[in-house]
Amino acid sequence: MLWSITIGRVAGTAVRIHITFILFLVWIGASALRHDGGDAALRNVLFIVLLFACVLLHEFGHILTARRFGINTPEVTLLPIGGVASLERIPDKPGQELAVALAGPAVNIVIAVALILVAGAVIPEEMQKIDDPRICLVARLAGANLFLAIFNLIPAFPMDGGRVLHAVLSMKMGPQRATSVAARIGQGFAFVLGFAGLFGNPMLLFIAIFVYVAAAGEAQDSALRSAVTGLRVMDAMETRVASVPVEASLGDAVDVLLATAQHQFPVIDGHRKPVGLLVREDLIAALGAHPREAPIADVMRAPTPVVRVRQDLGEALNVLGAGGSTALCVVDETGALAGMLTRENMAEMMMIKSVQPDWTFKQRR
Ligand SMILES: [Zn+2]
Repeated sequence: MLWSITIGRVAGTAVRIHITFILFLVWIGASALRHDGGDAALRNVLFIVLLFACVLLHEFGHILTARRFGINTPEVTLLPIGGVASLERIPDKPGQELAVALAGPAVNIVIAVALILVAGAVIPEEMQKIDDPRICLVARLAGANLFLAIFNLIPAFPMDGGRVLHAVLSMKMGPQRATSVAARIGQGFAFVLGFAGLFGNPMLLFIAIFVYVAAAGEAQDSALRSAVTGLRVMDAMETRVASVPVEASLGDAVDVLLATAQHQFPVIDGHRKPVGLLVREDLIAALGAHPREAPIADVMRAPTPVVRVRQDLGEALNVLGAGGSTALCVVDETGALAGMLTRENMAEMMMIKSVQPDWTFKQRR
């Protein structure tokens, strides 16, 4: 996840903190310092460290449950609303998905109950004032854990409640339809949260925007996944692609740029094998610093990931997403350039699929 810092590694999982989580903690510390002085701020820092540990335990609830089903977790990122464990995949079986989603909030409930038992009677009003440093630390921590459990059970992605909802819906209507229904319910909740935020806590507004964007992303990703099911790279790739020989100059590349509508160009060697990718922005930037005779080999992005014509389109989509690039070179059996796969292609494919869901692209086989 962007804007996060790795702080360590536990049982094969990298622990990362998102910058907004740190800002959230700073806000709590600073407000205590202003109202109640240094001693209170210090106690709040201790509270923050313990809260941080509880959020982490929550995430490891998910991570260790997923591991029981054979799913590893490369990293976990902490956000103000809890944490996001980047599981390698979501369990296919709705029952397993439900167990993994519920394991996180369950950890917070166990911690809260344990703290309440340790501290004896806890006045409910005290538990609500979790940012008030005058309240007993154990009571505040118990309150925070209950808050984490309840908040994470809001039925919206990326909250655990969104996963719970998805798992339950999957049992009734299958995973694809469950995703779009769950995403829509999540966006509905985001509107309710945002509305509450407008008239109450501005923090809710921030969370609402976050939830809305995450739910929209989940729905879009699910639509794309279902559109590419059963398709191969050759079904969606651009075949009329202008390429640039690796020995070309910046001036040659400008000629090709102007002659076509492409924004990215495969750079090929003498055997038509892709050796790099020339991106319009890089070319323009290079022209500002180098003469037009300069070789494009210095400007191209290399090595560039390639996919094969018969490769599964879903796999190619993963490569496209992982590299953060906007285009992929497609090669045939001999390794020679056969076409290009771009985000525009994928968008066009989805448009076709939206009006003709059974489109099979037979004419291209
Ligand atoms: Zn969780």
